[in-house]
Amino acid sequence: MKFITDRTLGKLAKALRMLGYDTLYFQSEDFHQLIHLARQEGRIILTRNTKLALRRPQDRILTLTEDRPSQQVKELIKKGYLSLSEESFFTRCLLCNVPLEEIPRNQAEGKVPDFIFHQHKFFYRCHRCDRIYWPGSHLENMQKRVKELRSEI
Ligand SMILES: [Zn+2]
Repeated sequence: MKFITDRTLGKLAKALRMLGYDTLYFQSEDFHQLIHLARQEGRIILTRNTKLALRRPQDRILTLTEDRPSQQVKELIKKGYLSLSEESFFTRCLLCNVPLEEIPRNQAEGKVPDFIFHQHKFFYRCHRCDRIYWPGSHLENMQKRVKELRSEI
């Protein structure tokens, strides 16, 4: 399942990337372009704009009713669009939406804080923005959040 969010759902786009879903964040107001891109790449459009789905009944448009990103994630789970698989968490750059690549540990040295380097064995890199990720507090926070989500469903 691949998604594209409209400009009002930037936080949701990041949350979906955290969960491992390929999600484009479309920041322009040009709906024609949004729909064109969604069709071209086979993406489901996520929006809070109730008019869009009415105007375009033939497209895969999901209108979210919730305001908060965590509630929106829950809404997507309830509607059957997301399944949470922990092995997909943390596999995608939160900024660029591209899959992360594991790098040899020595390549992370000097690029992450020293204490992080010494605490961790595995490091991952986004080849687009060069940002380095490690399964630290980031991942634990996410797992906690997902657990909370699950318990509320
Ligand atoms: Zn990146």
